[in-house]
Parts: sequence; structure tokens; C-alpha cells
Amino acid sequence: MRNPIGLMLAVVVAAVVIAGVWFWTAAPRADAAPPQTIAARSADSLPPAAAKSAAKDDVETTAAVSQPVAAAPALAPAPAPMQAKSTCANPDALGVSRTVVIDTTGGPGFGFLQYKQFDFLTDKEVVLTFDDGPWPTTPAVLKALADECTKAVFFPIGLHTTYHPEILKQVAAAGHTIGAHTWSHAHLDSKKLTEQQAKDEIEKGFSAVKMALGTAPSPFFRFPALAHTQATLAHLESRNIARFSVDIDSLDFKSSSPDQVIQTVMTKLDKQGKGIILMHDLQKHTAQALPTLLRRLKAGGYKVVQMKAKEPLETLPEYDALMVKDMKVPAVSARPLSSVVQTVSQQ
Ligand SMILES: [Zn+2]
Repeated sequence: MRNPIGLMLAVVVAAVVIAGVWFWTAAPRADAAPPQTIAARSADSLPPAAAKSAAKDDVETTAAVSQPVAAAPALAPAPAPMQAKSTCANPDALGVSRTVVIDTTGGPGFGFLQYKQFDFLTDKEVVLTFDDGPWPTTPAVLKALADECTKAVFFPIGLHTTYHPEILKQVAAAGHTIGAHTWSHAHLDSKKLTEQQAKDEIEKGFSAVKMALGTAPSPFFRFPALAHTQATLAHLESRNIARFSVDIDSLDFKSSSPDQVIQTVMTKLDKQGKGIILMHDLQKHTAQALPTLLRRLKAGGYKVVQMKAKEPLETLPEYDALMVKDMKVPAVSARPLSSVVQTVSQQ
């Protein structure tokens, strides 16, 4: 009697256990709900994307620190500056201490004289900028920068790029950043200019630089005489072009000697501690002052930051076409002069 009951009990227990195991193993399958998981994951991917777009809003991102063999930055897709540093023949060069990439969306402003938006330079950091070239004095500026393995931002005048496109190409080949500084150096706050003419000055300047270089410039702009209007600022903003003012004005255009340029820059810099330095590569005194000035920066513990644009500017096709049309007058004719102009009478 006991044995059959015991056997039945064992069978029941075994059945319960088997059913339990089956239920237990089957249950998670029902809970897995793969489509929900995928949906949840794709929803989860939104925060990183939002974070990414938030990071995009930062106008300044450290892309590379080109000090000698620093620890490899985890996110640094910038082997070029590192290579540039390694090819520097001068072991005591001023160099480039930091390279920043600018997201020009919305037309951010730099240089505290006018635009107090982005205080991205730390103590002792400077940005070298040169306006008004390209000019026959520019190669001397390029040589001084190359001797110190350092980089600058150039704001060429459109008209000058048509005179000396080969010099502007040298600026680009040396790895400097190139923006624009209007077509004819017009002061854009002038009452003589209509809004349209001011816009033309900006856009034709950029298209001229593009024509000289064969590639688009950076969306970096400096107003001649730093003279802007609300309309021109709005235009730059709509075109996602960053505007550059200044922190340290070298006043090189009215300096009577290279020494005076050096004194002006160093005095202001030692007082302010950092900043965007405005110079002119078409000024002879600046070209002459630069080797010593760069040495003084190095001796003073100053460090050069190179500013680059995240994306090149998309020039406007109508202004590119205008430049092509303007430049189409050939300098040399296919026909010999004597076949075109014949002297038929002479006294
Ligand atoms: Zn200028």
C-alpha cells in the first residue's frame, strides 16, 4: 500500500518539477519580446545623437595638440598637424601648441574688441592673423612662420588675389588657414554702399579667393577697418561665416619701423595675456619684424593656437560666375600682334 502511494507521490512530484522546469524555460522566451527591445534601443540612441549635436554647437573643439609626442588623444583624427610638427627642422621652434576647429554655424564672432562671445583662448595663447594680402611682401611672412613651424590665419583681399594668385597658393601650401577680407577692401559701413553692394563685396571676395586657390576658402571673414553694419552681420550669420575682430592690434599699418611693431604687440600682449593678434602681410615692417616678434613670443612663454574651419565655405555660384567672367579677358592673344595691328602710315 505504501509503495504505490509513494510511487504516485514521486510521479506527481516529478510531473510538477518537469512542468515547472518547462514553464520556467518557456517563460523567458515570452518575455524576451525582441521587437520591443529593438524599439527601446533605437529610442535609446537618441540621447547620444542629441549629445553629438550639442557637441556640434561648441564652436571650438581641440583637434590636436601638436607638442612633441604627447599622449595620443583618443578622438584626434588629425595626423596632419602632428606630421607638420615632426617635419619641423627647428627644435626650438615656436610651433603650434593647439589646433582648434571652428563650427561656423550661425556665424560666431571672435576677438574681444567687438565680439565677446567665445573666450576660447587660455592664458598665454595667441592666434596670428594677417590681412590685406597676398602681396610681394607675403613670402617673407611665410618664411618667418615656416622657420618657427607655426601657423596663422590669412584674410586676403579679393582684388589682390587676382594680382598674385601664385602667392596665395603658397599661403595655402604652407598649411595656413585662409578666409577673406572683401573684394576691394571697401568699408562696409560706408553710407555710399547699398546693402546689396556690401553683400557683393563679401561674396565676391570669397569667390575671388576660391578662384585663385582652386579650392574653397574657410568661412572666416574680417571686415576692412573692422567696420560692420547690422545688415552685413546678418548676412554673415545667414551664410554661416565666422567673423573675426581682434584682441591685440599691432597697428603695423602706421608703425614707423619693425621695432615699433614688435613693441606694440608685446606691450599689449604682456598686459592682456592672450588674444588674436591683427597684422598685415602687405606691410613691409611687419614682414621684417616677424622673425624677431616670433622669437619674442617664444621667449615670453606664448603659445600659438591655429584656427581651422570644420567645413570649407560654399561660395555662391553667381559670384563664382562673375569672377570667371571678370577674369576672362585673356592677357595674351593667340594672334600675333602684327596680324592685328598694322602700321599703315607713319611720319
Ligand atoms: Zn584690411
